[in-house]
Amino acid sequence: MQVAETISSVRKAVKAAHRRSKTIGFVPTMGALHVGHLSLIEAAKKDCDYVIVSIFVNPTQFGPGEDFQKYPRPLEKDLDMCRKAGVDLVFAPAPAEMYKSGNITWVTVEKLTDPLCGRSRPGHFRGVTTVCAKLFNIVGPDLAYFGQKDAQQAIVIRRMVEDLNMPLQIVICPTAREPDGLAVSSRNKYLNADQRKDAAALYRSLEKCRRMVEAGTTDTAALAAEMRKTLGEFPAIEIEYLSIVDAETLEDTDRIAGRALVALAARLGPARLIDNIIVEA
Ligand code: AMP
Repeated sequence: MQVAETISSVRKAVKAAHRRSKTIGFVPTMGALHVGHLSLIEAAKKDCDYVIVSIFVNPTQFGPGEDFQKYPRPLEKDLDMCRKAGVDLVFAPAPAEMYKSGNITWVTVEKLTDPLCGRSRPGHFRGVTTVCAKLFNIVGPDLAYFGQKDAQQAIVIRRMVEDLNMPLQIVICPTAREPDGLAVSSRNKYLNADQRKDAAALYRSLEKCRRMVEAGTTDTAALAAEMRKTLGEFPAIEIEYLSIVDAETLEDTDRIAGRALVALAARLGPARLIDNIIVEA
């Protein structure tokens, strides 16, 4: 496995892979790898001949007061996991390599970035789309893999690729979960034992919503109220948003008709956790 820290060395490796007619799969990450990331790598391995993982804690997607400084960076362990997973190349640049002369060029996706996480994290998606556009330009993948766990991010990236005619396909992979249903996340490390136990209620509330939809409830206010009741039993859970929106446009809907995204963000002690499911009526 090659480990590249510079853009020029990635370009060289990709050129060589292309010469050998390899299909290139790309998994962008911020490191602190876990089974969720591994599931994306596995999917990429299945579809592609040459798999590139980037490990980059992107400063431009963190707001003031967020966890950029304390975000875990266990690089050696991450490289080991990538090696074992059969990754061909890891791109792990320093911030100065990615943002050489500062940054005055941004990629912005409108509308889809207004609700949900866009509302509580102003500037976040601008940082995500900009870094992904840069990474796509550096890596030149045929396919890039994203997790359903960050549903809004995946939708926003897919739209950016479509609107800017970027020559790659976005693949969205299912959310990997702990045995109690909690979505696996690098930020779960911030939880103490009690908070970790309570965190399982997030997925329980989503599952409750799924069961209600399956039983015929389509009124989004009623569904959200039931979910809030479930989460209300845990005083440590502070809901940031709980929304049921159209799964493609992310617009609010009074009644589910077709595919809907049930998405939530909550604070639990020092951690901000997000999760979602798709339901259909
Ligand atoms: P991150 O390192 O948190 O920026 O995530 C890198 C990629 O892994 C993103 O596409 C995430 O959506 C995806 N990811 C993170 N957690 C999970 C999970 N539990 N299941 C599936 N994909 C995930």
